[in-house]
Amino acid sequence: MPELACPQQCSFCDQRQISGKASFPAVEEIIQKIETHLASFTCEDREVEIAFFGGTFTGLPLITQEKYLAIARNYIGMGFVTGIRLSTRPDYIDEENLHLLKLNGVTTIELGAQSLDDEVLIRCNRGHTAQQVADAAEMINRFKFSLGLQMMIGLPGDTPEKSYTTAQKIIALGALETRIYPCLVIKNTKLAKEYAEGFYKAMELSEAVGLSAELLLLFEQHGVKVIRLGLHRSENLHNGAMITGPYHISFKELVLTEIWNKILLAEIGETNSESIHIQINPAELNFAIGYQSKNKKVLMNRFRQVKFSGNNSLIGRDFILNSQ
Ligand code: SF4
Repeated sequence: MPELACPQQCSFCDQRQISGKASFPAVEEIIQKIETHLASFTCEDREVEIAFFGGTFTGLPLITQEKYLAIARNYIGMGFVTGIRLSTRPDYIDEENLHLLKLNGVTTIELGAQSLDDEVLIRCNRGHTAQQVADAAEMINRFKFSLGLQMMIGLPGDTPEKSYTTAQKIIALGALETRIYPCLVIKNTKLAKEYAEGFYKAMELSEAVGLSAELLLLFEQHGVKVIRLGLHRSENLHNGAMITGPYHISFKELVLTEIWNKILLAEIGETNSESIHIQINPAELNFAIGYQSKNKKVLMNRFRQVKFSGNNSLIGRDFILNSQ
């Protein structure tokens, strides 16, 4: 959904450029998209959701919301889809709308919280307060939707400490999932002007990766699922919409590489062996070796031989280290 439904103009956002869309999708277009995706799913027991993202879904007229939801509900009725999720703004949540969403099969609501620091929210021209996020979260939980609270890092007026506090508040508000997006400077936004005038400095990629790694570990510790790290790949971003910022096509992989880098270096400590063999849960193997073998290369500087291998008996980030 483009930001046409959105009443606000956050300083960092130009949804039309990010999503590449400037008009509402037609019903036929949505059906076509759903059919294409469904046809590509081969796994029988796969859990499938239809999601309305971008813009402010609950900012649309109720009749338009119902029209879009009816398409998705139809697929739930046919048994092809298990739920509907949507993203919206915290100040566009009220009981009337939540009733409508409940009746229409919506299961998950993601709020763009971005920050739970009022100073940062004002600097970004978000148009809502941290308290409004808390109130909306309470209502969503009360209506028994699954709650997602998205956050951004590196916003104007933000600091790593403020981001960490935002993450702690997201956990306390009962979110089951989150997304972490580093702030980018997009052309034709207020932030682009602030950047050009020297009032805003974007995070370095390494800073954003390091902070995201800390936040990911915090969320994991509290059972909050991080379902996205970094922006989706968008042709528009690659075609010059982004002026600067910590964007990387493999942002998540960089973050997981960073986490494994710390784990491995802490475990290896002062080991003076010639060779090491590290066994890893196969799902984590690539991240342990690192993006472009970064972690392996670091270890190769210390050991004559470094071997990584998968071990199916290991779970999560458990590993076995043998040194000789
Ligand atoms: S509320 Fe969301 S869609 Fe609207 S301007 Fe802000 S970030 Fe963009």
